[in-house]
Amino acid sequence: MKSRIAVLETPGQPLVVDEVDLPDPKEGQVRVKLFASGICHSQLHQIHNPATPVPTLLGHEATGVVEAVGQAVTHVKEGDHVIVTWLPRAAKPGDTSPQPIEVPWRGGVARGPVFTWAERTVAPQEYVVKIPRDVPTAVTSIVGCAVMTGCGAAYNTAQVRQGESVVVFGVGGVGLCIVSAAAVLGASPIIAVDLADEKLEFARRFGATVVVNASRTDAVEEVRKLTGGGADYAFDAIGVQETMAQVLQATRPGSFGLNSGGTSVLVGVPQGNADLPMRDLLIGERKYIASLGGSGRPETDFPRYLAWYDEGRLKLDDLVTRRYRLEQINDALRDLQEGRIAGRSIIEY
Ligand SMILES: [Zn+2]
Repeated sequence: MKSRIAVLETPGQPLVVDEVDLPDPKEGQVRVKLFASGICHSQLHQIHNPATPVPTLLGHEATGVVEAVGQAVTHVKEGDHVIVTWLPRAAKPGDTSPQPIEVPWRGGVARGPVFTWAERTVAPQEYVVKIPRDVPTAVTSIVGCAVMTGCGAAYNTAQVRQGESVVVFGVGGVGLCIVSAAAVLGASPIIAVDLADEKLEFARRFGATVVVNASRTDAVEEVRKLTGGGADYAFDAIGVQETMAQVLQATRPGSFGLNSGGTSVLVGVPQGNADLPMRDLLIGERKYIASLGGSGRPETDFPRYLAWYDEGRLKLDDLVTRRYRLEQINDALRDLQEGRIAGRSIIEY
């Protein structure tokens, strides 16, 4: 089956959009005609990393309709609407990552564990989750990574409760999903920290109750003031050296014999290592944990997030601010790189 597809041929260079012959789905695989795909910030790191094996296929969140299924595919059939994601839908102990999908390209093969910057994809059945046919298909394309990662960090990993204080460093697509979930869970206050006033104002729409521009003020000091000593939870949706240390300092210390300190949650992909004040960690008995893909269990998480969307509590229509065609993928990546995307951008097919 023919499909137009974006290929990273050389790290750091623009992607090539080409027509390929997609292989038929093998045992345990499905072919999905895509409606839309999100454009995740983490892929910029992959594109610019000289160690990324090429040619590679990218994109790891999408919606689509199942066109064909291989043998032994049991949970979806032709015609089903699905979300494509990058965590197994219902992992069991001992599960290993499926083999990457190989697509013939220019005499060789291009590979990707999952790829959604394409009109059609072939995916292991573990990476597709069925959704009802009446769910809008464009904005829900970001459920497979941004929503799973952000909402899951607050809901699954941190398990934020009513009345607890939350600060989120970095309010891009994932950070806004953390803010949204914190609001659903009844956190208060919900503090958004970023470097751009427009992004911070935008964060209020998703439930941020206070905003702090870290380019003008000491964000840690400000958070301590706003929370009476530090937040119960501080999320780092960025993962640079500075924010990885700031989240630790922005959580509250515990009191001897009474309670433990607050919890820092690393959500963004770390760019290098952090220099952490370990005395603050010990003396305040704080916790520093990580959340990969929002500790996601797609098959149980996605219905919850789609319900939040349906109830107006997860504003996906606001979160998706830019739409591109596949041919514009390099423009889309440049806009993301240059910080011109509020929320999340998507490709529509
Ligand atoms: Zn992602």
